Amino acid sequence: MHWAKKWHPECFTCTHCRKPFGNSEFYLEDSFPYCEKDWNDLFTTKCVSCGYPIAAGDRWVEALNQNYHSNCFRCTVCHNNLEGQSFFAKGGRPYCKAHAR
Ligand SMILES: [Zn+2]
Ligand SMILES: [Zn+2]
Ligand SMILES: [Zn+2]
Repeated sequence: MHWAKKWHPECFTCTHCRKPFGNSEFYLEDSFPYCEKDWNDLFTTKCVSCGYPIAAGDRWVEALNQNYHSNCFRCTVCHNNLEGQSFFAKGGRPYCKAHAR
């Protein structure tokens, strides 16, 4: 197999945390291998509200230089969804019109 040319099995470890993969899955990024957890942490876009990755098919909103799932982009006070609404930013968090003051 291709990897045997580059790595001994015991040296075939995650580029980031250095744990061996064993039988678990890994991901390649720039031809470096990463475990699933680190790959998610390092290379996926995450929603700042819920902390989960934003998948390719997910609807999301970019606001305040951060990324949110559409469902997670809510007023900090009343949690009304703000997607497509006018909102106000205070301290890097979104607020609806009523709670902006
Ligand atoms: Zn890792
Ligand atoms: Zn989210
Ligand atoms: Zn509100």
